[in-house]
Amino acid sequence: MFRMKRRTALLMAGLSAGLTLYAAGQQTWAAPDQLDKPAGSPTVKNVILFVGDGMGTAHRDAIRLATKGITGELEMDNMPYSGLIHTNSADPKSFITDSAAAATAIATGVKTYNGAIAVDLQGKPVETILEQAKKAGKATGLVTTSQVTDATPAAFGAHTAKRSAQSDIAKQYIEQTKVDVILGGGEDYWYPAGQPGYYPDHPAEDPEEESKGTQGNLVERAKQLGYTYVRTADELKQAAGHKLLGLFANEEMFQQRPEGEGDVYNPAVPLPDMTKKALDVLSQNKKGFFLVVEEEAIDEMSHENNGPLMIKAGQQLDEAVAVAKQYAKRHRDTLVLVLADHECGGLTVETPGGTDESGDGKTISGEDGPFSIAHSSQTFALDWTTTGHTAADVPLTAMGPGAERFVGVYENTRIHDILEQVLFAKTRR
Ligand SMILES: [Zn+2]
Repeated sequence: MFRMKRRTALLMAGLSAGLTLYAAGQQTWAAPDQLDKPAGSPTVKNVILFVGDGMGTAHRDAIRLATKGITGELEMDNMPYSGLIHTNSADPKSFITDSAAAATAIATGVKTYNGAIAVDLQGKPVETILEQAKKAGKATGLVTTSQVTDATPAAFGAHTAKRSAQSDIAKQYIEQTKVDVILGGGEDYWYPAGQPGYYPDHPAEDPEEESKGTQGNLVERAKQLGYTYVRTADELKQAAGHKLLGLFANEEMFQQRPEGEGDVYNPAVPLPDMTKKALDVLSQNKKGFFLVVEEEAIDEMSHENNGPLMIKAGQQLDEAVAVAKQYAKRHRDTLVLVLADHECGGLTVETPGGTDESGDGKTISGEDGPFSIAHSSQTFALDWTTTGHTAADVPLTAMGPGAERFVGVYENTRIHDILEQVLFAKTRR
């Protein structure tokens, strides 16, 4: 019964693209007249863009099986439109992208070299969709379980030749781009060496963590500029005002390690709670908002071939998507996108217990599991083939006004171009 509904939606979406698509949920969001609407009038007031860093098709399958079972659907999959994204970068040495080049493509519509933060191949800054939204009077937000200055959010709110310049990125957020809501980890880049901040230097769970900011005390600077600064879940809950800076860890809000070697995924503020607060603050702006929400641990746990915590992080992302969908149901002028920047791990979902095709089973890139399938006595295994990124296309799902434009198979740069059209009625090139 459930399957039938899905098939109808899939058929509709598939027909318009002439393709069989990754997944589709129930057709409830787009009015029929939006399907053929030409560029010319903005249809979207708010955008909530979710990035599951490193989240390929098999990652979504694994998260779904573990959470909803064989016939269930994740919140992120139960959306009416879907597409597949080519992720390659324009890096002269490796076409396989990193998060910086991929996020730059999504944020600016320009392919660039790996490590670039919203600059082109010549190193020239390119305006981002978040900056365009800001110019149009919208509120803007960056939320992540990574350092809030890490590559994915950075490419929306800053411009640097190198992704490692995280204090420069932080400074640009607050002084130049003036991002309204900034929530995540990475306190170490906001305080200079010797000033530990709220999260102490050299903690037991990672003794290497210590303040290393290169731009002075940026937390003080943010306060001068009118930001409310919060450090814990309680402070976040109580925070008022239109500008909010929350730093909840020295580095990532988790510890990425191989299974059983000090790996931790238990963020001080869960991603759904950060998402909820960001929406509360940003939605006060009458002209709308542009919000990026990233779950970074899907990628970083995949680099460690850590299936259990990759899945745990994916479940948190899905709960954050549920928060956004609830908001979008009450505010129909909200576009919600769930995508990835690239695949990580060369992952497949398999029957447990078979021989390991990808190696001797002793190396890190081997079979992982078995994992329980929700509502079933069956189990599945994950088979990793690399600890790096791959060139595999990644799925995108979408709902809300303009969502139908994301149907098809296309380059990551097109995401920016479509956003520009639906937000500002702008046609590019
Ligand atoms: Zn990665």
